[in-house]
Amino acid sequence: MSTIHTILPGGTIGVLGGGQLGRMLANAGSAMGYRFIALDPTEDAPMGQVAEQIVAHYDDRDAARKLAERSDVITYEFENVDADVAAMLLAESYVPQGSKLLYTTQHRLREKRAIEAAGVKVAPYSEICSVEELREAVARFGTPCVLKTATGGYDGKGQWVIRSESEIIEAFETLSLAKTELVLEQFIDFTKEISVIAARSSKGEIKVFPPAENIHIENILHLSIVPARIDKDLQQEAERLAIKIAEGLGAVGLVAVEMFVTASGELYVNELAPRPHNSGHYTMEACHTSQFEQHVRAICGLPLGDTTLTSPVVMVNVLGQHMEPLLQKLAVRDVVAERLHVAPKIHLYGKKDAVFKRKMGHINVLGPTIEAALEWIEETKIWKA
Ligand code: AMP
Repeated sequence: MSTIHTILPGGTIGVLGGGQLGRMLANAGSAMGYRFIALDPTEDAPMGQVAEQIVAHYDDRDAARKLAERSDVITYEFENVDADVAAMLLAESYVPQGSKLLYTTQHRLREKRAIEAAGVKVAPYSEICSVEELREAVARFGTPCVLKTATGGYDGKGQWVIRSESEIIEAFETLSLAKTELVLEQFIDFTKEISVIAARSSKGEIKVFPPAENIHIENILHLSIVPARIDKDLQQEAERLAIKIAEGLGAVGLVAVEMFVTASGELYVNELAPRPHNSGHYTMEACHTSQFEQHVRAICGLPLGDTTLTSPVVMVNVLGQHMEPLLQKLAVRDVVAERLHVAPKIHLYGKKDAVFKRKMGHINVLGPTIEAALEWIEETKIWKA
């Protein structure tokens, strides 16, 4: 079905995936009067605790059809949606996001080509099909350079930073085990990593959230700092590029654009995510409209909300190893927050097992300055290794 619908509050939004992104989407959309239903194979998934859930695998066509029958609109909260299920849903139900952006962002090479076609720079790259091609490309790009699998990588998995020619064979053989194409990228000597989340509605309206400065630890997002500590011109340029990508790729809903910033002020897009993004969680309390409400508005064909930042904020992720110290702190009066005049807003996702490095929640630390918020994170010592 290709006609554009307006889905008003009262309507039901079906979501493929029932993790934390679905949970926060349902929380935001429920406040607006929408109903939610998730399809997720895990019993009592984070979203299943706040909405209805069909417990079934993502490639279960009957379950997907059941989801579609009960939903006025279908969306997804993760990228690796089964292609057959996506095609079936597109034919039989209302999926305003379509499958093109999903198809593009499921594969690094397709994604890079699409970003370039939209007129935006990515790090120089080369498709790699053999050790010989890898040798030749490493010689061209120099070391270090980064070998990545085209599909399936996340949080730094499926990649290898090649630091010398002696690693070529091992890197190729290890990543080839993933049985997907490989891509070699020139190493970008960035000074900062930032991201911009753009929203494009089914009616073509586009808005962006302010850029977040992202700090990773062992490839997992640790902090998002907003406003990002980059100059105004660069902020505007980053926003302009995100709009160009959302427009060029014909996105509907959210698209998160991760970028590298170099010392000379150049921006290279690293990757895209066609969904709410961890680096956009700061919007929940620090913007007039959250990324989740914006996604609901975009897919339901409502006017997009105001994305203005209302407070400096630092978002800090809570991983499995942070849960125990955090829960202890929560039980007592937070004198550090009182002294620094910051308000730490806690979001936990309802996951039972606090496994090491697993994303369990996040805290949006609002304050008079980002320095005060950073100081709170430092002083609580929850994130000390
Ligand atoms: P990715 O899985 O592509 O998001 O990469 C994970 C992290 O690896 C990024 O956040 C960067 O810190 C680093 N990285 C990835 N690609 C490059 C590159 N071409 N140059 C420098 N660092 C990179």
